[in-house]
Amino acid sequence: MYTDEHGNLWWKGNLHTHTTRSDGRLSPEDCIALYRAHGYDFLALTDHWKLSENAVSDDGMLLLSGCEYDFGRRVQEGIYHVVAIGCERDPMVTREDGARAAIDKIRESGGLADLAHPAWSMNTLDQLLPLDGRVDFTEIFNSVSDLPANCRPYSGEIIDLLASRGAVWKTAAVDDTHWYRRDACRAYVWVRAAECTREAILAAIRAGDFYSTESPRMAVTFDGAANCVRVRCPAEDRVSMVTYFTDTAWTGHRSDVGENLTDAAFPLTGRETFVRVEVRDADGRCGWGQTVRIQN
Ligand SMILES: [Zn+2]
Ligand SMILES: [Zn+2]
Repeated sequence: MYTDEHGNLWWKGNLHTHTTRSDGRLSPEDCIALYRAHGYDFLALTDHWKLSENAVSDDGMLLLSGCEYDFGRRVQEGIYHVVAIGCERDPMVTREDGARAAIDKIRESGGLADLAHPAWSMNTLDQLLPLDGRVDFTEIFNSVSDLPANCRPYSGEIIDLLASRGAVWKTAAVDDTHWYRRDACRAYVWVRAAECTREAILAAIRAGDFYSTESPRMAVTFDGAANCVRVRCPAEDRVSMVTYFTDTAWTGHRSDVGENLTDAAFPLTGRETFVRVEVRDADGRCGWGQTVRIQN
């Protein structure tokens, strides 16, 4: 947990994790202890087709119930992995449901529906646009989808293509931990909430009060008076680059570069319909902000 300059509390969590209950390498107990030792406040154990329960661990970790459901085997037909987080009751998803019905069941059961790792699944716009307005968020970065186990950890391009069609999806970075090597305690979310309870964390995620990072912290705001999108980072987080992703293929101002950047801004040109910010620190670690929709 950290407190920002305005006194807001931010809680650290991983929303996608596997254990020996499915194909992960650590037991649930060891997994929880590992993440707790790395300063996590909440964790969702999301084993394949095995629902975990809402609870608080003995060492104080908030555990959100979780499960990952997969549909489709071939890219050409569409691969959809849907992660349920924080359900109040078993959503009773079956393999016959398909992604859309599974998402609806998860939300009807009080949980969040995450469309997992769209780049790894090689999801297309045609596959994802029908899910707009149904999923709670998708994954901008998925640690286990990186080398050496996989090769497509980053889903920024499909997320920006969606936004360019007006489908502005919330995004989270997750570990999707399996091997407990480079895929553990790497990419996480900070959620702004008054307290670290299931209700408060889920409400904040639904409201978009969260962002993702491997280390550098950030605050992204729309400044209507100055007609720009502003970014603030703590000096101690050593941010060396701020990048602005938009739906203008060319822009004269794509990134700000420097040492220990604390303030940066993207002046709107009137042509972009969204701005999505990424930051990178001196060690190359990324932070990913929520997409800001721009009304022109
Ligand atoms: Zn998956
Ligand atoms: Zn997974």
